[in-house]
Formats: sequence, C-alpha cells, structure tokens
Amino acid sequence: KERNPNQPEFIQAVTEVAEDVIPYMEECNPAFLDEKILERIMEPERVVSFRVCWEDDNGDIQINRGFRVQMNSAIGPYKGGLRFSPTVNLSILKFLAFEQVFKNSLTGLPLGGGKGGSDFDPRNKSNKEIMRFCQSFMTELSRHIGSNVDVPAGDIGVGEREIGYLFGQYKRIRNEFTGILTGKGPGWGGSLIRPEATGYGLLYFVEQMLYERNISIKGKVITISGSGNVAQFAAIKAVNLGAKVITVSNSDGVLHDKDGFTIDKIHFITKLKNKGSRDFKEYTDLYDSTFTPGKTPWIYPCDIALPCATQNELDTEDAAFLIKNGCFCIAEGANMPCTMGAVKLILKSGISYAPGKAANAGGVAVSGLEMSQNRIGQCWTEEKVDAKLKHIMHDIHNTCTHYGKEESGKINYLKGANIGGFIKVAKAMCAQGIV
Ligand code: NDP
Repeated sequence: KERNPNQPEFIQAVTEVAEDVIPYMEECNPAFLDEKILERIMEPERVVSFRVCWEDDNGDIQINRGFRVQMNSAIGPYKGGLRFSPTVNLSILKFLAFEQVFKNSLTGLPLGGGKGGSDFDPRNKSNKEIMRFCQSFMTELSRHIGSNVDVPAGDIGVGEREIGYLFGQYKRIRNEFTGILTGKGPGWGGSLIRPEATGYGLLYFVEQMLYERNISIKGKVITISGSGNVAQFAAIKAVNLGAKVITVSNSDGVLHDKDGFTIDKIHFITKLKNKGSRDFKEYTDLYDSTFTPGKTPWIYPCDIALPCATQNELDTEDAAFLIKNGCFCIAEGANMPCTMGAVKLILKSGISYAPGKAANAGGVAVSGLEMSQNRIGQCWTEEKVDAKLKHIMHDIHNTCTHYGKEESGKINYLKGANIGGFIKVAKAMCAQGIV
C-alpha cells in the first residue's frame, strides 16, 4: 500500500491473488518465495504516460492523458487491451494489467500481460473526433509497441472502429503492415470470432461449471449486466444454448424483459446501443419490458448471474440478494466486477464462482490466435477458431479444477485460476534470472 498510494483497484487485485498464491508457495514451492516472484510480478516492467492532444470539431484543442502499462513479458510479448473512458487512471490500468498476466498465462498461449488506454471519453464524439484522437494516441504509442514487443487490443470504449484508426496511423508512421493490434476487421488481418470470443468463451466456461455439478444450462434464468461487446455475445450464446436471459444494463440503469431476449431482440438492443440510446425507450415501447434507472440486474432473481459491465459493479449487498434469491452460479465476463466483500460472501455461500481471469479469457485467447494467423499469413475459418476457443476454455476449466479442488470436492475457481496462472509465469521468471 505504501508503494502504491491511491491505487485501491490495483491493491484489491494484488490482494486477491496474494491470498491464494502465498499459502501455495509456502506449502509447495518455497523457491518462488526466495526468488521474490510475487513482489516482482507486482511491479510493472514499464509504465508509459503521455500527452494526447487533438482538435475537436469546433477547432478547440483538447488534451487527454494516454498510458501503457507493460506488466510482465516472462512468457511472451505484452498483450492486453486499450480502454478509453473518463474513469481511466493508473490504478485501474495497473489492476487490469496485473490480472491480464494471470489470464494470459491460463490460456496456455505465449502471451505476456499489459494494458493501456486514456481518460478520453468516446461518448458523444463524432467519427472524425474519434479518428483524430486515435491518430494522436497512436503517434506516441507506436514508439512502444510492436508485433514481438507489445500487441494491444480493444476494451471498454475501443472497438473495431477505434482499432481501425489506430492501426491506420501505425501503418502510416512505420510503413509496414504487421500484427501490432488485435481486434482488427476480418478483411484486414482480424480473426473471425474475435468480437464474439469473450462472450462465447464465458458461456463455454459456464457450461463446464454446470457440467461439473450435473446441471444443464437449458431453461436456466440468466441476468447479464452491461450491453456492450461482452454482454451482447454472452447473451446470444446463452440464448442459443437454451437459457433465458432477462436483463442487460448500462451505466444509467437496467433493462428487464421477463419473457427473455430472443436473438432478434438482442440484435435490436445492439442497434439501439450503437445509436447511443441510454434508456432503451424504443425497446420498452415495442416489447413488454421495463427500464429502471439507477438499478442493476442483481435485483432480479436468477439461476446464473453474469456481470459483464465493469469493475466493482456487484457489491456485498448485491451478492446477498443473489444468494437469497437462489442464484447458484456467478461467472465474471467483466474484469473484477465483484468487490472483494462480494467475492468473500459468494465463496462462503457455496455458489459456483468463476473470476474474470478464467471466465473471460476467451477474448485474449482469440487475440492470441489472431496473432498466430497474422504471423503465418492465414485466415482460419469461423469453425476452426470457435473450436480452438472452446478447447482453450475447457483447458482453463481443467486448470482451475486441478489447482482449486478442495477436500470437500468443491472447486474454488478463484484459487485454481490464481495458482494455475501464477505457476507458469513464476517458472519462466526463475529461468530468466533476476531481471
Ligand atoms: P463495452 O464498452 O463494449 O461495454 C461496456 C458496457 O458496460 C456498456 O454497456 C456500458 O454502458 C456498461 N457500463 C460501464 N460502466 C458501467 C457501470 N458503472 N454500471 C453499469 N454498466 C456500465 O466494453 P466490453 O463489453 O468490451 O467490456 C466490458 C468488460 O469486460 C470490461 O470490464 C472489460 O475489461 C472486460 N473484458 C472485455 C473483453 C473484450 O474482449 N471486449 C475481454 C475481457 C474482458 P454505457 O454505455 O452506459 O457506458
């Protein structure tokens, strides 16, 4: 805490890992303690902070702050998304980069961990403003990334449009077409299934969690938060698997459809979201549904809860409500959406709980597959990428089971993911000497 003042999210993420990893090292691998692996993993290898100036449509000069946190490169080039949101600060990016190290390790792919972004708010900006911002951001970022060095991707506020503008600027500066970003369009180096990967992967993981308990997902009631990339594709896959999804949300409130979303209804939500609709009024006018401002999905009883919006969006009160209402599975589509208090309560209750670093790793996994395709100059089919994604999610589930199975037979996915993700990085760090 003294080394990282005013970084509560980063301290939260480190504490959550340390609580599992320190007892593991004491019991099974004291060499990692001697090597001070955890202390070294906590310190980013490099943090870059830079000025991003751009001109808005009125000709006024705007100034934002850009960052790239290069956390750990023990098992591969830094890899992790870029977030554009006014909430971005060093604490948030360090927590995300730290989580990314373990998540990327769990995928089994050779990917180090990083994260970046800016306090730029893409909402209510014109296309041209977004483009000018992205170009200015990449002008500096281009000095620090490369296909064998650091390969950023999208995150909140950064989708295919932003990746396009960022990629175009890198190409203009360097005069080379290389895989320096993932999440590219399918016609210019992107992988099929990348937009769907985090949401689909989340559901592949949930299926495994339920399978472990002999429960079928068919007919189960699911509440989802968020209505962005992860939420939309999680909802689509859940509906395709036969579940009933009854909520999505945004920072203003929650949309509840008691009959459950169909695929057509989800596409309608996507259209409204892309138009910038905040209250889903066109949806509630058309379908028997309600939008409740200031509320979250966790007020509605469900079997499975999938927080897919943002960090610390599900607190102890929400967790108590979910437990009381009979929810038996919580899997994180977002990064660290449950507060530390909520996680403790959920674990105590016996609910199956999967942390984001395991359950939402599908996105970075397919980003890793995009890097492979770029290197060999190939485009794999949708079926091939989807099959690989499913395989990776099953492997992550197996790793969690291996390291997280308790004497009672219950699986502590948090412990399994923390230890499973840690070991590979720790071994590589030991092998590479004191650096
Ligand atoms: P998007 O920007 O596409 O969507 C984010 C969604 O969350 C929006 O609907 C947004 O609503 C909502 N939201 C933001 N803040 C809040 C809040 N305080 N309360 C309720 N809703 C909120 O982002 P993604 O879907 O890509 O990312 C969502 C989460 O998943 C993040 O934690 C991200 O780090 C994580 N993640 C994403 C991956 C990916 O592949 N995209 C991979 C792994 C993790 P509004 O429109 O009001 O802002």
